[in-house]
Amino acid sequence: MSYTQKKVDVLVLGGGAAGVCAAISAARAGKKVLLVESQGCLGGSRTATGVDTFYGFYTPKGQQRIVGGIPWEIAQLLTEANAAFERKNTYGAGTGITYDVEILKVIYEQSVLDSGAELLYHTYASRVHVSDGYITGVVLANKQGLTEVSANIYIDTTGDGDIAARSGAPFEKSDAAELQSLSTIFFMANVDISAAKSVSHDELAARMRKANQSGHYSLPREEGSWHITPHAGVIQANMVRVSGVDATDPYALTLAEVEGRRQTRQYVRFLKEYVAGFEDAFLVGTSHHIGIRETRRIQGEYMLTEEDVVIGRKFEDGIACCGAPVEDHGAGKDTRWVYVKDDGYYHIPYRCLVPKEIQNLLVAGRCLSATHSAQASARNSAQCMAMGQAAGTAAVISLEQHVPVSSIPIPLLLERLRSQDVVI
Ligand SMILES: Cc1cc2nc3c(=O)[nH]c(=O)nc-3n(C[C@H](O)[C@H](O)[C@H](O)COP(=O)(O)OP(=O)(O)OC[C@H]3O[C@@H](n4cnc5c(N)ncnc54)[C@H](O)[C@@H]3O)c2cc1C
Repeated sequence: MSYTQKKVDVLVLGGGAAGVCAAISAARAGKKVLLVESQGCLGGSRTATGVDTFYGFYTPKGQQRIVGGIPWEIAQLLTEANAAFERKNTYGAGTGITYDVEILKVIYEQSVLDSGAELLYHTYASRVHVSDGYITGVVLANKQGLTEVSANIYIDTTGDGDIAARSGAPFEKSDAAELQSLSTIFFMANVDISAAKSVSHDELAARMRKANQSGHYSLPREEGSWHITPHAGVIQANMVRVSGVDATDPYALTLAEVEGRRQTRQYVRFLKEYVAGFEDAFLVGTSHHIGIRETRRIQGEYMLTEEDVVIGRKFEDGIACCGAPVEDHGAGKDTRWVYVKDDGYYHIPYRCLVPKEIQNLLVAGRCLSATHSAQASARNSAQCMAMGQAAGTAAVISLEQHVPVSSIPIPLLLERLRSQDVVI
């Protein structure tokens, strides 16, 4: 089959938190970069899903900032635009940076375009052509038809590891029953915030239990939470839990979207009936794309483990720091939390971004090489952005030195990252 052809230096597939930073870092180094995104905005979970708080910039209990570089630049741009604020010591994950999702969309777009990268929306990366362990092209599908884009280096930031899987690189995927649950995020307006704050997190959970016991509700998650946003009277809620879904199965994903909105209506009814301050509130938005926490995890040159997370292990090829706890949203009504020892942090090694068997492919973001439990920590947004920046920088080095991505000189990678204010 013949396709329209296009050639770039670096092809980044998926414009979520990781893809944005991968494209910016490679383009800033002067490379010809194309960033492809299937939806009509950048940010993935951070925008289309409505998850409006960056975690992972700080260790949970302390105030030590452990992520810099492009992710911190993005956070600063949000603050300068008066579109973000820090929420100190929020439940479980520590200090978060809560932002206006609509402003983040624009900041991501502007940062990508300013870097010189080319941006392509409404385009789906489909078939992957491979020869002798090298990807030779990725076929993109959009309204114009099919185009084969060839690049020197490919970066898979689809979250689901679509490109790695289709190239034949090995990956792991837990059984549907063990995969972390999916969540539709929702926003409500006209909330009396001070009245609503009089109900503690524990009391909210107790009322959810009571509502379930009344027989008029079947709320699958009894410890979800809501928080304030930059807009007066508007809250964001993370309560929905759709379990047992493999989000790489499009039919199952479709049913999950339907179920997520069905649950949302129930949680909205619960809040209005059981929680002071919500009486006159109304639903103003749900995720355009249901939130996916976990699907494929590639098998890279190293696989991060829960032990690495808990003991705060450091690696010689560490490209990002993470102090976020394991936050495992299983199928039950509760979430499993496991913290890094002594409020410390661990390194994400470069090898977790390097898939086995394919010489010119990197991954970044939630499809990194990690066990189910370790991924439940490393998937935080600040770390996904940091991984993206590292992958973009590594791609440039691989291109310059004409070596496979697995053979780039690590000291050079670390030196370049430090020069970009990355905290390692
Ligand atoms: C419900 C939920 C709540 C969360 N809460 C928090 C939180 O409060 N704080 C925090 O820090 N983290 C949180 N996270 C985790 C964090 O948001 C994500 O792990 C992280 O943003 C993932 O970024 P990513 O770029 O790896 O993937 P994604 O955000 O999934 O982005 C992947 C992008 O690739 C695109 N794409 C996929 N396949 C293709 C294809 N074949 N072709 C073209 N484009 C494609 C998608 O449209 C998407 O834009 C949460 C996650 C979820 C789901």
